[in-house]
Amino acid sequence: MEYRTHGKILKGVGGLYTIKLDSLDAHKQNFDTPSPLASTLISCSASGSFRHNHIKPLVGDSVEVIYTDHSLEVMDTKNNDIRISAILDRRNELIRPPMANLDVMFISMAAASPAPVLPTIDKLICIAEHNDIEPVIIIGKCDLAPEYAKELQGIYQKAGYDAFVLSAKTGEGTDAIRDYVNTRLGGKTSAFAGASGIGKSTLLNALFPNLSLTTNTISIKIQRGRHTTRHVELYPINDADNCGYIADTPGFSLLDFERFNFFDKEDLAYNMREFRDYIGECRYTKCTHTKEEGCAILEAVKDGKISKSRHDSFLEIYASLKNKHKWDYK
Ligand code: GDP
Ligand code: ZN
Repeated sequence: MEYRTHGKILKGVGGLYTIKLDSLDAHKQNFDTPSPLASTLISCSASGSFRHNHIKPLVGDSVEVIYTDHSLEVMDTKNNDIRISAILDRRNELIRPPMANLDVMFISMAAASPAPVLPTIDKLICIAEHNDIEPVIIIGKCDLAPEYAKELQGIYQKAGYDAFVLSAKTGEGTDAIRDYVNTRLGGKTSAFAGASGIGKSTLLNALFPNLSLTTNTISIKIQRGRHTTRHVELYPINDADNCGYIADTPGFSLLDFERFNFFDKEDLAYNMREFRDYIGECRYTKCTHTKEEGCAILEAVKDGKISKSRHDSFLEIYASLKNKHKWDYK
């Protein structure tokens, strides 16, 4: 008998894929047929047809998998006849590191040492918004600058984001983010993004001591120098059937996003979440929201409804988009 089900690619090295198959509950939503391997981790190679179509399965992809009674008997990777028969629609696709369907990006900064560069943080948030990835803000090292950490949290909560303040050193605030990760990420794929030195490795190791993520900064640097591509692997956050996944990457940097699906300056305001309510309310239909009289967004900044720092970032990103031709991003 032939079985057909869906699963998520957790790892892909040299054409060999590790796939977590849907639980029986999830399977039943798409198929009426049995799935004896439901909820298990299987290994298989991609079928040749993908190579002809120039589509390569990516880590994070949801795929359709076909297997047979024979596959159940021969579970070793080389001889089984499990195969990926289709790649389901992608929500988004990242080039470097190569992965698909990122749902949540933990955009991380330190309250101090190094102090955050807010336009860079806001640019990352915009890129996440543009690619349908939910940004979650992490403000670390709050032991070093508690007041500023709170101020930053206020800015991002006001903008409409979940924002966590924590110190991996004192442990303050780490329970809240651990709770979020365990309860809010069901089935979703997440990754950490942020500059180096802000404490990502320290935090990840504190949050997920059992994952042994390869976040050691030095080894990553060596690895980067030697390989042109970085492999991403998705790790289940806990043992639950519908748990969230975290991408084992050294964290995304802005550089990783320069070739990502970008946007034009006209779209920028839409990618600033708290600006959206005011778009269309300005006196001029072609308002750039930078300096015009009767601009609803500038009014909201003046009234304290939009944080000044967010609008300052808007101006800086707007100016950089104005100077950049679209083809520069290709
Ligand atoms: P990464 O490059 O973002 O992965 O940062 P690391 O985790 O390697 O941390 C960089 C430095 O910051 C190390 O010296 C850590 O000990 C320190 N650090 C990490 N978290 C904290 C924190 O919460 N408070 C303080 N004061 N230092 C921290
Ligand atoms: Zn305006």
